[in-house]
Amino acid sequence: MGLDIPDGEPPLSIDLDRSQSLRVEWADGKVCTFTLETLRANCPCAECRSERERGIAPWPKKNLLVSQELSAVGAELVGNWGLQITWHDGHGTGIYAWGVLRTWAGLDDPS
Ligand SMILES: [Zn+2]
Repeated sequence: MGLDIPDGEPPLSIDLDRSQSLRVEWADGKVCTFTLETLRANCPCAECRSERERGIAPWPKKNLLVSQELSAVGAELVGNWGLQITWHDGHGTGIYAWGVLRTWAGLDDPS
């Protein structure tokens, strides 16, 4: 009933397998799974966005000091509207809004 939820209804449940994937179950009964690679490669933070604009893939990193095996070390709900994931290399500024995840999964048209 909130007036300022910008982007989609929160899911019923979220299941993060820290070495594999994120599974999201929505209020309308739809379920979708995102691999960690997909999430990281499409990280919505400003830094990764600008890398993609310059044609650089945010993941895998060219930096070999960082393990190329992607894993999530943490995940936190951000208000009512999204999920913030912290990655094994310390990156964690991207917030995955519910509406964006639904669009990626093909459940909603991009608005
Ligand atoms: Zn990022």
